[in-house]
Amino acid sequence: MKIIVCAKQVPDTNEIRINPETGTLIRDGVPSILNPDDANALELALEIKDKNPGTTVTVVSMGPPQAQEMLEECLAMGADEGILVSDRAVGGSDTWATSNALAAAIRKVGDFDLLLGGRQAIDGDTAQVGPQIAEKLGLPQVTYVTEFELEEGGKSMVVKRALEDGFEEIRIHTPCMLTAIKELNDPRYMSISGIYNKDKDIKVWNAADIEVDLTTVGLKASPTNVFRSFTPKPKGKGVMLEGDTDGELAQHLVDDLKRKHII
Ligand SMILES: Cc1cc2nc3c(=O)[nH]c(=O)nc-3n(C[C@H](O)[C@H](O)[C@H](O)COP(=O)(O)OP(=O)(O)OC[C@H]3O[C@@H](n4cnc5c(N)ncnc54)[C@H](O)[C@@H]3O)c2cc1C
Repeated sequence: MKIIVCAKQVPDTNEIRINPETGTLIRDGVPSILNPDDANALELALEIKDKNPGTTVTVVSMGPPQAQEMLEECLAMGADEGILVSDRAVGGSDTWATSNALAAAIRKVGDFDLLLGGRQAIDGDTAQVGPQIAEKLGLPQVTYVTEFELEEGGKSMVVKRALEDGFEEIRIHTPCMLTAIKELNDPRYMSISGIYNKDKDIKVWNAADIEVDLTTVGLKASPTNVFRSFTPKPKGKGVMLEGDTDGELAQHLVDDLKRKHII
């Protein structure tokens, strides 16, 4: 099988703190990491590769040059090839423009059986890019995948998809796109031999290489623009409810919740 995984380098948002005095984000020293859901997507690709010799795994990313470090990590985990789309022409893209660029890069990679991505990136947090790529490539898709089994020697698969109140089991034929969530698996660590294997390839492509229509990528082409970003106000202090008896205390709590239209 030929598998392509979309992976994004993101700031480790667990490490971002808010400066209580200025109310701004403290980004200094915040490491960049492989987006967690994308690590689950890559792990799925590598598990398929472990069980099906001859399978190749290509990781495609779009971002600044330093995103190559994340691709090196993907190769050290076991991927065969990394491709980074990096060009000022695609900088500032919103999800629509990002998915145009990634779809163009995936077309350039050529035929594949399975396209994988994460459900959501922890920085942009939209969960839109995966479904948009699938749409632009005319692929069927299943999002929020938690379980996976190949059928018919890789021609189809049965996947379990998480819903708010249950699961769906879906049979889907290849080629198709799936987006992964953390319940799918536990991503493996990089191996020592993987870290020191310098034969594996990372290609850096610019906008001309992916033959993308330049009117569909970048900040100007993006239908949405972030015109202001700000740090949410810290939550107010907690309130101690008073009451002489448990019943009175409970009544105060109910009154308070009603006043705030919570119940
Ligand atoms: C300078 C700048 C300006 C921006 N301006 C805007 C703006 O005006 N409007 C706006 O809406 N957004 C803007 N963005 C954010 C940008 O749209 C998102 O970072 C990007 O589109 C990805 O969306 P997301 O992070 O929500 O990914 P999600 O949709 O949450 O990601 C889902 C999955 O898609 C794949 N994926 C997503 N991005 C990539 C990638 N780059 N490479 C490989 N795989 C990927 C991964 O598998 C990921 O798990 C801006 C970003 C920058 C840096």
